[in-house]
Amino acid sequence: MSPSVEAALRARIDAEGSIGLDVFMEAANTAYYATGDVIGASGDFITAPEISQCFGELVGLWAAVTWQSLGAPASFNLVELGPGRGTLMADVLRAAVLMPGFGAAAQVHLVERSSSLRHRQRRTLTGREIRWHDSLASLPAGPTLFLANEFLDALPIRQWEFTDRWNERRIAPDGDAFRFVLAPTDRRMPASATAGSIYEDSPAIDAVINELAARLVRDGGAALLIDYGYAQGHGDTLQAVRRHAPVEALAAPGTRDLTAHVNFAAVAATARAAGAGVFGPLEQGTWLRRLGIDLRAEKLAQGKSAQVRESILAGVQRLTDARAMGSLFKVMALAQPSLGALEGFDPKDPA
Ligand code: SAH
Repeated sequence: MSPSVEAALRARIDAEGSIGLDVFMEAANTAYYATGDVIGASGDFITAPEISQCFGELVGLWAAVTWQSLGAPASFNLVELGPGRGTLMADVLRAAVLMPGFGAAAQVHLVERSSSLRHRQRRTLTGREIRWHDSLASLPAGPTLFLANEFLDALPIRQWEFTDRWNERRIAPDGDAFRFVLAPTDRRMPASATAGSIYEDSPAIDAVINELAARLVRDGGAALLIDYGYAQGHGDTLQAVRRHAPVEALAAPGTRDLTAHVNFAAVAATARAAGAGVFGPLEQGTWLRRLGIDLRAEKLAQGKSAQVRESILAGVQRLTDARAMGSLFKVMALAQPSLGALEGFDPKDPA
């Protein structure tokens, strides 16, 4: 699939000499997600909501409690960014509607550009009115709860490499493939470096967080951001995955999932500068345990066969264990400035 995206990128490089990694990643991922159902055991990669329904149910509990602390508005936007197969939103709604009033108040909006994934989401979320958006720009005003799991990591990044000075790592053709080339830059980098150091940034993530935080400040609400990421340090975090295995990132654009770890320190700084409150980041395992995932799993497993019980507990283990997804994945919340506390976060958490 996607000789067309590859041809388009080559034509653009022919015209411009080289392109930024962000341009490459944007085009490659747009083509990739357009190919359809790439998430899940039969696809290329698996995500937390696809591993265990407990994940979405606890996010739903978080959403319900947060809605209450916003004063239980009679109408609010429940927005998911990059909803994949729609599994997280389905689990969130099933759990959150147990809170009286939540179900009637929630207006569900999905930010998704892939039309084949929109179809998949429609099938998962039958019986609910849903509105789709290409970006945050067309979301209606009003108090909003944002949810995003493995969304920010799919947004394009740039990479900078230090030699005896900073350079942008740009992309040029290399026979049938692509390779990185260095283009000197005068840009000042917020990191000190030695030869070979790589620094990543993402104007696309900055733009999303700016818009999201501005909406929280203006209209009220909160956002839950869950992703692969780091709070400190940097380096090359670009990775490509196909059929659950790492593959070459610069080959065959549009046929593999390109992601980068999210710089949560940068997300926090952007959100704070826009006036929003910031909670976390916490390790996913810590956050899920605080919300009671072990109890939830026990309850779900009650009365089930040994085999089903085993698979429920194994799923939860995978989400929380530090050697699996428990540590690498982080949870951060952003909120309207007046919200002093949020479920699962503690003011005493390390900043
Ligand atoms: N949250 C889901 C899917 C993660 S995959 C899960 O946890 O299973 C990334 C999702 O973000 C996909 O739905 C993809 O189509 C969407 N996406 C990626 N880049 C996007 C962009 N720039 N705008 C809107 N959606 C995007």
